[in-house]
Amino acid sequence: MEFLYRSTRNADETATASEAILKGLAEEGGLFVPDEIPALGVPFDVLATMDYKQVAFEVMSRMLTDFTEDELHYCIDGAYDKKFDTDLIAPVKYHHGAYILELFHGKTIAFKDMALSILPYLMTTAAKKNGIDKEIVILTATSGDTGKAALAGFADVPGTRIAVFYPKSGVSPIQEKQMVTEKGKNTFVAGIKGNFDDAQTGVKKMFQDKALAKELAEKGFQFSSANSINIGRLVPQIVYYVYSYTRLIAAGTIKAGDEVNIVVPTGNFGNILAAYYASLMGLPVHKFICASNDNKVLYDFFTTGKYDKNRDFILTTSPSMDILISSNLERLIYRIAGNDAEKNSELMKELSEKGSYEITDEMKHSLFKFYGNYANVEEVADTIRKVYDEDGYVIDTHTSVAVAVYDKYKEETGDDTPTIIASTASPYKFTRSVMTAIDAEYDSMEDFELVDKLEELSAVKVPAAIEEIRTAEVVHNTVCEKDEMEKVVKDFLGI
Ligand SMILES: *Cc1c(COP(=O)(O)O)cnc(C)c1O
Repeated sequence: MEFLYRSTRNADETATASEAILKGLAEEGGLFVPDEIPALGVPFDVLATMDYKQVAFEVMSRMLTDFTEDELHYCIDGAYDKKFDTDLIAPVKYHHGAYILELFHGKTIAFKDMALSILPYLMTTAAKKNGIDKEIVILTATSGDTGKAALAGFADVPGTRIAVFYPKSGVSPIQEKQMVTEKGKNTFVAGIKGNFDDAQTGVKKMFQDKALAKELAEKGFQFSSANSINIGRLVPQIVYYVYSYTRLIAAGTIKAGDEVNIVVPTGNFGNILAAYYASLMGLPVHKFICASNDNKVLYDFFTTGKYDKNRDFILTTSPSMDILISSNLERLIYRIAGNDAEKNSELMKELSEKGSYEITDEMKHSLFKFYGNYANVEEVADTIRKVYDEDGYVIDTHTSVAVAVYDKYKEETGDDTPTIIASTASPYKFTRSVMTAIDAEYDSMEDFELVDKLEELSAVKVPAAIEEIRTAEVVHNTVCEKDEMEKVVKDFLGI
């Protein structure tokens, strides 16, 4: 059953799934949302017998209705292959009283790989379907992980180029090294003198600049986005929630239909929104537990109904969640406003003009399945150490935010519903913060000494993504002011 996607800011702007993927962002800064969220329509017991690719096909074919079966199989087979270091793609492991869904077995060892491995396939397939003859230029703002995952996905993909902007002083040394050593010939990376919100705002501005779009079109280019505002990111992320739930069925831990909680360490609200969409497709979820770090705008929002970004931006040990403007929350706001583009636009206008907005009591009431809390830097370190001491399992700082918040939730509510925790990065990506949490003495060691020490402690082999950058050469060294982003993109494209 084919349905359309529609802008959260203009009810008249619609697109097919493939058009929405190509565009990335709707006009006027709106985001594309599906007109319908169809039921999965396959019994969980049956899904429990399928592998990752088969589950991916069931989920994605419901949501991306203008792709043919062959096209989807081509995309899925190309994405979820040996790039992942386990055939399970997203293994589920039991530690600390919860089911840890490891989403970091892809090429760049962060959960962004789950969607960015397939996005280039979806994008180039969409371009072919829609008769696009221009070169697609992917513009990306990153808080650290999207950047490398998008670079790895789009590197040397014919018909595409990719430019990535990251906050020069706001990512981990390993995250930065992963990006600036990217060899793909169609890639460009720049650090900006600003934070992630500045990078994201700059990118959104370029998307909305009609004159720039025209100039690009004349030179044979068109922009698209690899950020989580693109539904081509969102839809593949629904898959692993369905997958992990059905793994618990296969393991005999739960029965089909039993409810679970889902805990997600959250920044831009893309990952947790995918969990919410999974529930709208039929996944039985008791609570969505939204875990924030010290940048706790979302915790405040879920507890008060007021979204307020007027506060200091705090650099934490979980940099991929250092965000004050959670873009994808807009999709939830649109929905709880009754799919009302006008009402949503008003709130988003308040956000851009005053930096805050407040939802109605009725809207707030419809968020009863969401629980928000946060963990500060010290709690994150304590939790890494606690989990490690229990059974030698090492989690990264982002996953630790989620685990710490889950502990608070359990303490507060006594809820013992089986719980899936999204583990969003390998500890190898944030080695210094992770190792010094386990023992402060490690701080005297060099970055790669820490890597080797972590291998010894965790008995998990150093991932290829880390081995690769030990000796890799820096190929990107552009640093720019936040108002120079357009200029450097033009330089990169040679226009
Ligand atoms: C991007 C990221 C997050 C936040 O995900 P959102 O979809 O932006 O909420 C959390 N942890 C890690 C490691 C990430 O890379």
